[in-house]
Amino acid sequence: MATIPEREPFIQPLNADWYQQYVEEVSMLRLDVIHPVVSGNKWYKLQYYLKEAQQAGAEGILTFGGAYSNHLVATAAAAQACGLKSIGIVRGIHAAETQTPTLKECVSFGMKLIFVTKEEYDRKYDAEYHATLNEKYKAYYIVDEGGAGELGVKGSETIAKYIPEGYTHICVSSGTGTTLCGIRRALNEQVNVSGYVPMKGGAYISKDINNYLPAHLHNSYTLFDDWHFGGFGKKNDELVEFMNAFYQVNKIPLDMVYTAKMMYGVKQQLAAGHFPKNARILCIHTGGLQGNSTIKDKLVY
Ligand SMILES: *Cc1c(COP(=O)(O)O)cnc(C)c1O
Repeated sequence: MATIPEREPFIQPLNADWYQQYVEEVSMLRLDVIHPVVSGNKWYKLQYYLKEAQQAGAEGILTFGGAYSNHLVATAAAAQACGLKSIGIVRGIHAAETQTPTLKECVSFGMKLIFVTKEEYDRKYDAEYHATLNEKYKAYYIVDEGGAGELGVKGSETIAKYIPEGYTHICVSSGTGTTLCGIRRALNEQVNVSGYVPMKGGAYISKDINNYLPAHLHNSYTLFDDWHFGGFGKKNDELVEFMNAFYQVNKIPLDMVYTAKMMYGVKQQLAAGHFPKNARILCIHTGGLQGNSTIKDKLVY
């Protein structure tokens, strides 16, 4: 049976030319290296859900995602590695015809895909809808979209063991904010934690994040949503050029949905003097590289 992580995460300093004029250090925590398709942070978010499903004697995991979802493919691979089956409820009937590389990957890990209308998909948090699904897929344990929820946060806390003392700033890309929340809960309050949200107007996720934080930590992190490049999943030539340049200088591949937008933002913040000169910044590489398949031809990596 496959094991995850296949490879331990490690910290890689960026090329000094990238930051030395502004701060003491910028490094990346390479969670992306743990597995070729199980996106860095997704495995950590899923681990306690998988355990609970196994303990409950479930036959498989049922979860939700779009046609490019890192979470869906991570769930398919992680479930298979644990000897569990998986079902993916996929947003949009049309997704069935245009099977994306992500969905093909899901199928290759044994996931059964069920395509539903956008209206049905929007009921993903609805208790009644879950009851219907439980009725139909009896032995399946339901995990929310993106692995959000308390067990996802608890799983993300374990990422902190790869973050040594001495870093002053932690930067992480945030979709649901689950990963940020776990890291915030686990680290010393003196450490600055910032989330870079790739959705337009994405700072609204603070509401969800605060649900999982004790009150005294509600203002203990910052969200930046300036670098969405038009919205979730959107990209332009500038972003792609940035990804290529970043790879050439640092030998680190970024994904177009999350980590590229974060590093673009960090670079602008460095130049704008946002960080103090003695800052030691650790950016979390949360993975997601499978999502680059649609722009493969434009990338140098
Ligand atoms: C899902 C994902 C995120 C967002 O994680 P959240 O815990 O939902 O905030 C960030 N980066 C990558 C590569 C992801 O796949």
